[in-house]
Amino acid sequence: MKGRSVIVTGVPGVGKTTVVTGALQILDQEGIIYKTLNFGTYMFDVAQKEGIVKDRDEMRRLDKDVQKRLQKRAAQEMAKEEGNVLIDTHASVKTPKGYLAGLPEWVLRELMPDTIILVETDEDQILLRRMTDETRTRDLEGSYSIGEHQQFNRSIAAAYSMMTGCTIKYITNADHLLEKAVEDMAAILR
Ligand code: AMP
Ligand code: MG
Repeated sequence: MKGRSVIVTGVPGVGKTTVVTGALQILDQEGIIYKTLNFGTYMFDVAQKEGIVKDRDEMRRLDKDVQKRLQKRAAQEMAKEEGNVLIDTHASVKTPKGYLAGLPEWVLRELMPDTIILVETDEDQILLRRMTDETRTRDLEGSYSIGEHQQFNRSIAAAYSMMTGCTIKYITNADHLLEKAVEDMAAILR
């Protein structure tokens, strides 16, 4: 990996993909190019070929060792990319047996991020966004539990910065303020 490597994380439903898409549109007009790599898609491609899942939302319920194997494969594939990459993923994945690190040491060693961005907002807003998203099988959880997940992500991101020397940036994607989040993201990627 020779260009810049930026990892974008956030709990399901926070609007990561929407913010990333907006920021990349702005940068494109300025001649700054990033290739977006979706970590879940890399994992899903392998899992689907192996016939172990039919839907990407089933992966977080697989045995943790299987998830880690898929995770490692995905990281190795993504590391082959040259140029600037933006990796859309999760700081941690909520599994039935607890939080699974999204970027354990062997993944970070492949991806060596310059920056990890945490897209966040109020847990009540996330809860509502999940309830109205019909394209995905979102977990049913209360706002307390969503808040806990966001807190855990901040904690584990601190560990990731210790391991790699990367910077950590929090971006708020609040209701009605998508443009602000998009601008904040573009500023980091510039
Ligand atoms: P997404 O489309 O970003 O919600 O990702 C779909 C699924 O991919 C997640 O629910 C996880 O099961 C899996 N996934 C994505 N990134 C990671 C990661 N870094 N480590 C482990 N699993 C991941
Ligand atoms: Mg997404």
